[in-house]
Amino acid sequence: MEDRKFRVVVVGAGISGLYMAEKLKRAGIDFTVYEKGDEVGGTWRDNTYPGLYVDVLSRQYEFLFQPNYDWSRKYAPAGEIQAYIKKVARDRGLTKYIRFNTEIVEARFADNRWHLTTAKGETEIADVFIAATGFLHKPVYPNIEGRETFAGPAFHSARWDHSVSYAGKRWGIIGSGCSGIQITEALAWEGCEVTQFIRRAQWIHIRENPHSTWRERLFLRLPFAYRWRQNKLWKFIIEADQWRLKPGPQRDAMQRDFKSYLDVIRDPDLKKKLTPQYHLGCTRIPKSDQNYYEAVQRPNVHVETRHIAKIVPEGVELADGTLVELDVLVYATGFDTHAYMRPMKVTGLNGATIDEVWKDNVYSYGGVALPGFPNLFMLYGPFAPLNNVPVPIGLEHEISYILRLIAEARKRRAAVAPTVAATERFRARMRAAFPGTVWLGCKNWYSDQEGTPILWPLPQDEHAALFARVVEEDLQFIPAGERKGSGGRPEAAAAQ
Ligand SMILES: Cc1cc2nc3c(=O)[nH]c(=O)nc-3n(C[C@H](O)[C@H](O)[C@H](O)COP(=O)(O)OP(=O)(O)OC[C@H]3O[C@@H](n4cnc5c(N)ncnc54)[C@H](O)[C@@H]3O)c2cc1C
Repeated sequence: MEDRKFRVVVVGAGISGLYMAEKLKRAGIDFTVYEKGDEVGGTWRDNTYPGLYVDVLSRQYEFLFQPNYDWSRKYAPAGEIQAYIKKVARDRGLTKYIRFNTEIVEARFADNRWHLTTAKGETEIADVFIAATGFLHKPVYPNIEGRETFAGPAFHSARWDHSVSYAGKRWGIIGSGCSGIQITEALAWEGCEVTQFIRRAQWIHIRENPHSTWRERLFLRLPFAYRWRQNKLWKFIIEADQWRLKPGPQRDAMQRDFKSYLDVIRDPDLKKKLTPQYHLGCTRIPKSDQNYYEAVQRPNVHVETRHIAKIVPEGVELADGTLVELDVLVYATGFDTHAYMRPMKVTGLNGATIDEVWKDNVYSYGGVALPGFPNLFMLYGPFAPLNNVPVPIGLEHEISYILRLIAEARKRRAAVAPTVAATERFRARMRAAFPGTVWLGCKNWYSDQEGTPILWPLPQDEHAALFARVVEEDLQFIPAGERKGSGGRPEAAAAQ
């Protein structure tokens, strides 16, 4: 590779892509970000449904390089998160590196470089390809008979139709995940007629979400105050999140607290319907800022646990033949959490495609790389921390490691990928770490086809340690002109 022409392409301008862009800019590396949407923000651009608030503390969700002293609430509303992300892009001068409305549909590794094709048929060549494409970006719709026949507006929670007014309508919300809970409570307090269709009750965090005061905002502007407060926060989070990793009194106390939230439900039948039959933390915990359990007891709200037989023009028909008449239908049915960079077609060494290597299970080396796909890096790929390391900290770890790998590969005029053996060792370490954590023992969107969750199951310091140094024996460096390398097609890898 010619250093002079060294180029990086980042795909995606959500939090991860912008984080990467800022770090590449600082490192003086030539790069372009491709973004299929018309603005930055990813998740926070796409999800604009009523009742959406960030589920961690607002200040836990800040880019470490851009403090925000002015969050309006402890847990900011989605629009404020999106405004902050846009401000980061603007303030850091990142927008000029982004090509908006440009989807990358294909990426092929050939001649030791990545050849990318956009949906418009343009091509781009880069030495390094970074997929910052998110893990919750491809909406999933339920496979229910008659879905296309519904007569009123029907849309996914991530594609909210703001032309539909709330008032005087009968709303149907399908789903009881984080989005379904937040939408139901928001519409309930708006006074709409709401029916929420749930298959499974969730443990819900009923929380207070106070406004921040002018004193707090002023305090943060004092010398050292911000840094002091953030350091305190990071320490607190490490302690507070231990319950997910190992059984013990902290976990028991959490379980008791969550159970107690249900005590406000007066009707025993409703309480039974809303009491989960699995342990706390096994699924992502919905956060309720407007007391969901109070909201669903309002006379305008109904929780329906009977099975949906089909969707008809007038509404939803249940398995026992009951028709629930509706004017608007919302699919709060989540995302294809195992899609990652797909549907992009990605081809690595030996002609192997991502679809082939991930046919049975998605996997990675450290959440950031894949054998057989040299100089392809993922941000928040399989096994990245989704619950127990704050997003900006996880990104700092991943990005600093990726930058070190890039530097090492440039030095050797080669492309770099993890070996198959190192990747297998990493996966085995992940599998061995799950027993005792909260993520096993129920059906959840984290789990792969074998039932292993694809998130980080260890403490935060071990995540930092994973990326603290480049382990040479875990990597293969493929010099320009060399076509071989282990990985890629499973059978080709096995033969090496
Ligand atoms: C409703 C909702 C609420 C959430 N709330 C929280 C929360 O409170 N706390 C938390 O920690 N996490 C939350 N998450 C998870 C959230 O997705 C991550 O925290 C974070 O925003 C992910 O950022 P990202 O940049 O990795 O991915 P994304 O935000 O998904 O961004 C990916 C970007 O890549 C672009 N892209 C994808 N494919 C292509 C392509 N082929 N070509 C060009 N561009 C492409 C997309 O358009 C998108 O802009 C939430 C997720 C959802 C869906």
